[in-house]
Amino acid sequence: MERILNYVGGELVEASAGGWLDNVEPATGRVYSRLPDSDESDVDCAVAAAGSAFAGWSGLPAVERARFMFDVAQRIEDGLEDFARAESIDTGKPIQLARTVEIPRAVANLRFFAGAIQHTASETHVTDNQALNYTLRRPRGVAGLISPWNLPLYLLTWKVAPAIATGNTAVAKPSELTPMTAYLLSQACRDAGLPAGVLNIVHGSGVRAGAPLTTHPDVPTLSFTGGTATGGLIAEATAKQFKKTALEMGGKNPTIVFADADMDTAVPTAVRASFSNQGQICLCGSRVFVERPAYDAFVERFVELTSELVQGDPLDDATQQGAVVSKAHYDKVMGYIDLAREEGGTILTGGAAAENLPQRCRDGYFIQPTVVTGLPADCRVNQEEIFGPVVTVMPFDDEDEVVGWANGTDYGLSSSVWTENVSRAHRVADRIASGTVWVNCWLLRDLRVPFGGMKHSGVGREGGDEALRFYTEPKNVCLRMEAK
Ligand code: NAD
Repeated sequence: MERILNYVGGELVEASAGGWLDNVEPATGRVYSRLPDSDESDVDCAVAAAGSAFAGWSGLPAVERARFMFDVAQRIEDGLEDFARAESIDTGKPIQLARTVEIPRAVANLRFFAGAIQHTASETHVTDNQALNYTLRRPRGVAGLISPWNLPLYLLTWKVAPAIATGNTAVAKPSELTPMTAYLLSQACRDAGLPAGVLNIVHGSGVRAGAPLTTHPDVPTLSFTGGTATGGLIAEATAKQFKKTALEMGGKNPTIVFADADMDTAVPTAVRASFSNQGQICLCGSRVFVERPAYDAFVERFVELTSELVQGDPLDDATQQGAVVSKAHYDKVMGYIDLAREEGGTILTGGAAAENLPQRCRDGYFIQPTVVTGLPADCRVNQEEIFGPVVTVMPFDDEDEVVGWANGTDYGLSSSVWTENVSRAHRVADRIASGTVWVNCWLLRDLRVPFGGMKHSGVGREGGDEALRFYTEPKNVCLRMEAK
């Protein structure tokens, strides 16, 4: 059985205590590989390796650092099919999604920041002919990068790329549920000759391998993506050391459809927003609000398109809906479907384990895409993040009402608004408390824009200049100008 290894100081190594964790293929429910059960001593080694590499790496010209990153990106692109297959097996997601969206995006992340670092400018401020202020932005040292299971390589490289482009070195802790493509990334880095210690990857559980990274005194920068409860623990753990911390957390994103929307685009996009990656994208729209005059027709078409989604073996090219990531997550999502019934909801389609799966997938964690109506906006199903293939649809009567409902959760990550009325589009976009508002689209991404959440969805922003700033420390130098 394949053994995934840590990547520390340029070497692929086992955990120092020799322990292993099982890695399960969600589509089959079977253990198919093992990963190191790393602990504090492995984190210490990785942080020491990153610390030793810092002076050399941060001292390289930007173009040299970029060259390594372009090389790693090229290796991932050359291995697209292997990476996509590995991601699909590890997560249960359709291979088509991994092949067309996720692995290409990992490549793009590396290329984007390798390019960006060669085109950055810093600020200068002239003070009344008395002084010239300029801002030096220096890398901060070792960055700790903790990532989740839903888009494993995509989100890991979204952190690694800006961290190392700006001259930091890094210790990454990928999710223990989906370690495989991080392992393939470490092989690509080694093959590209990335200097030892620039990127280190420590595998293992959140408590044993993640937590020691958050409290390590030699890790001044910490970027986390994952659940809000974990984010809270990390905020507490890092606060005492005054670490610079970015937290990207959960969401309960609204999709708002006004009656004047272009329904030929709105309905299929709302279905995609609800169920892509089995609803396991932090940006998925899990609450759909439809203006009452359009409600009945919308629901009919929405349910029709949902029930046409092809569910099957994630490795089959035709599959649109794969498995959810783990048995624990399957139980959690099924629990919310039960709760939707208890809270008075009507299940219009789905609501059960998938049927008619190929033999190989009989013990996998497949849930039918599920549409629920008849629930109030303030019930638990509409307030708590389910993070699975379950969506609620509700009618609304006016703009104030729907904005109130859209904003009426603890979360504020993203939203999607559908209307042909441009004034209303701007007005509603301004009123919604979410880090991203898509108008007449969903998941249209530009890597330059600020990305992150409000309220319990996040602290800080990733993307473009925001990321370059996060991973650097600004220092103002004030130079007195001689007055004649
Ligand atoms: P999670 O919080 O359980 O785990 C995320 C990572 O944190 C994993 O690597 C885990 O091992 C680690 N971890 C767990 N406990 C830790 C601790 N005490 N100290 C340090 N590290 C610890 O999240 P998940 O279940 O892997 O991911 C799903 C969640 O991620 C959802 O809530 C989803 O909305 C969120 N998410 C957010 C974004 C975003 O950009 N805002 C993107 C993707 C996913």
